[in-house]
Amino acid sequence: MSSDTGSRRFFCPQLAESGSVELAETEAHHAIHVLRARPGDVVELFDGAGLAASCRITTIRKRDLELEVIESRRGADRQIDVTIATAVPKGDRFDWLVEKATELGVSRLIPLVTARSVVDPRSSKLEKQRQTVIAACKQSGRNHLMQISPVTKWSDFLSEIDSKQRVFVAHPGDHPTEAFFSEGSPMTLAIGPEGGFTDVEVNAATAAGARAMSLGRYILRIETAAVAFAARVLM
Ligand code: SAH
Repeated sequence: MSSDTGSRRFFCPQLAESGSVELAETEAHHAIHVLRARPGDVVELFDGAGLAASCRITTIRKRDLELEVIESRRGADRQIDVTIATAVPKGDRFDWLVEKATELGVSRLIPLVTARSVVDPRSSKLEKQRQTVIAACKQSGRNHLMQISPVTKWSDFLSEIDSKQRVFVAHPGDHPTEAFFSEGSPMTLAIGPEGGFTDVEVNAATAAGARAMSLGRYILRIETAAVAFAARVLM
């Protein structure tokens, strides 16, 4: 098997802390037919909810394989719980956003529909994004999946803001760039479509308790805004 860590990590939602565990479907196919795993090989499994384990392959069948847990560990996710609520950029740009946000440790991504949105992702597209999250977790060593929420309308997003959450609306203009570093409470950044948020949307957000925020002097694409914010808060 390859020595690249990403290729020896497999997503296994039913992983247990000890005993035997089965790997099936896509992940098993990848292990058996792409990486040519052999009995006795040691690989890493993670359950997407914080549990990871070194496991030894005991049995390989055509479509699934069995492993024995050698050692498991449970780790906390990032210290800062970051949500990115974002209009969906076109085509590959959304894949890129999902991959990079996962690598950086964003907890949750909420695809938004706003007044000027041009892309309304179908649920099949979001299913594909969930696969991108798994691939990015395998590659990056992250053991918690980034959650992808159902597509959410701006008004519904605003109605769910609670007082524990610091919510920022990225809007070009003369708004402060917040100082993020010292605080650990959950934070959410909302990002608009290429046409921007309307004034009505920004006003509704501030009325709901969010703060307008600048991300610098230049206009960023949606995915750049998401990654720049995540990197600044989480690195
Ligand atoms: N044409 C729009 C910009 C759209 S960019 C306009 O001029 O207003 C897409 C989204 O990225 C914006 O809605 C905003 O949420 C975010 N964004 C891009 N650049 C930004 C900046 N410099 N400051 C704050 N938000 C920004």
